[in-house]
Amino acid sequence: MDSEKNCRVIAVANQKGGVGKTVTCVNLGIGLAREGKKVLLIDADPQGSLTISLGFPEPDQMEYSLATAMMKIINDEMVDVQHGILHHEEGVDILPGNIELSGLEISLIGVISRETILREFISYARERYDYIIIDCMPSLGMLTINALASADSVLIPVQAAYLPVKGLQQLIKTIGRVKRQLNPELKIEGILLTMVDNRTNYAKDISMQVYEAYSSSINVFAVEIPLSVRAAEISAEGSSIYEYDPKGKAAFAYTALIKEVIHHGR
Ligand code: ADP
Ligand code: MG
Repeated sequence: MDSEKNCRVIAVANQKGGVGKTVTCVNLGIGLAREGKKVLLIDADPQGSLTISLGFPEPDQMEYSLATAMMKIINDEMVDVQHGILHHEEGVDILPGNIELSGLEISLIGVISRETILREFISYARERYDYIIIDCMPSLGMLTINALASADSVLIPVQAAYLPVKGLQQLIKTIGRVKRQLNPELKIEGILLTMVDNRTNYAKDISMQVYEAYSSSINVFAVEIPLSVRAAEISAEGSSIYEYDPKGKAAFAYTALIKEVIHHGR
């Protein structure tokens, strides 16, 4: 495929659940769309949280999803990258994910090139988009490996509420392995501190520790996403933080993140 244009594929990954991956995907994707970029969000979590967050409450009832598209590739069938794509009113496209991804992850075990099925799908989609953002599931299993093998970079949300260092090392090791064996161009977009409660010294300590441990080798985003009830509420609203609470601190932070991400790509 030489039709790649300038599409950037960003996997949002952390094997720990509840760190803000999905909320970051929504606001990163919609924030980029607000800057005039064409964006596809891919829900690669069997829980379908991204799909639900964008206002599609029943992903498991959907006939066509990421699992269907990947199954077609496994079976050497033609895939139409527009098939099953949903549109959100704030200007992003989404390829939904649902429970069928769990079954697919198991079927992948016996498949040739099992680590690069998603990459094949994305290679067809690249020409249509400026950004493709993949919301990963909370594990380092085959679906996440597929996402890492497809991506140009990985954005790692880290919740600033506990000592995240150990889990991060495991993730960084996996990223290194994928880079060596499957995707030599893979980069780390950055570590993003999320749910930062600036009223506590504890949050500041964690920010400092992450910065000291990693910033010499990995980008740590200057912006931190604050702890915000409004940010937590967007999933139920089906909208982005820019729509739901445009003047709040979380919207402000995500806007700053968009600037950093766009700047990186230059
Ligand atoms: P993950 O996808 O990593 O599991 P989510 O994005 O689903 O994480 O976020 C985990 C929980 O934290 C959700 O209930 C979400 O609404 C909430 N949340 C996400 N970002 C924030 C934030 N900045 N402040 C407060 N709560 C947040
Ligand atoms: Mg999630």
